[in-house]
Amino acid sequence: MEILGALLLIGAVVAYLLLPILKGETALLHRDFEEITEAEARRRIALLALRDAEYDYHMGKVDQADYTKLKGRLAAEALEAIRAVDGVDDADLEREIALVRAGMRDGRACGSCGHLNPPGSRFCAACGLALAPPTPAGSA
Ligand SMILES: [Zn+2]
Repeated sequence: MEILGALLLIGAVVAYLLLPILKGETALLHRDFEEITEAEARRRIALLALRDAEYDYHMGKVDQADYTKLKGRLAAEALEAIRAVDGVDDADLEREIALVRAGMRDGRACGSCGHLNPPGSRFCAACGLALAPPTPAGSA
């Protein structure tokens, strides 16, 4: 009888966790996720992927050729998504990418949600996770 109770409890927890997926809701990229447009979601995903690619490259997980190829593709995706969000131009994209890069170098960009935190931050102001230590200067 105790086993049955445990199984029911596990089933309830699994059902609770799977419910959003079964209902077709999208994954949460951010804790204070609210109504965002599809274009905005694509923009965030593209920028996060771009940042991950840079991180992998700096950690030596991806070689130069793959990195260059991947970066070109992701940058194009990010640009397309950003344009769709609010009709911004290439200069805005470059600025946004530069911000993400600067954040990575200073350890300010959150590895979880991408939030850019003030210099010297140790925890993300948006989601509360510990921020990665700064990468050494001149490692690019
Ligand atoms: Zn965060």
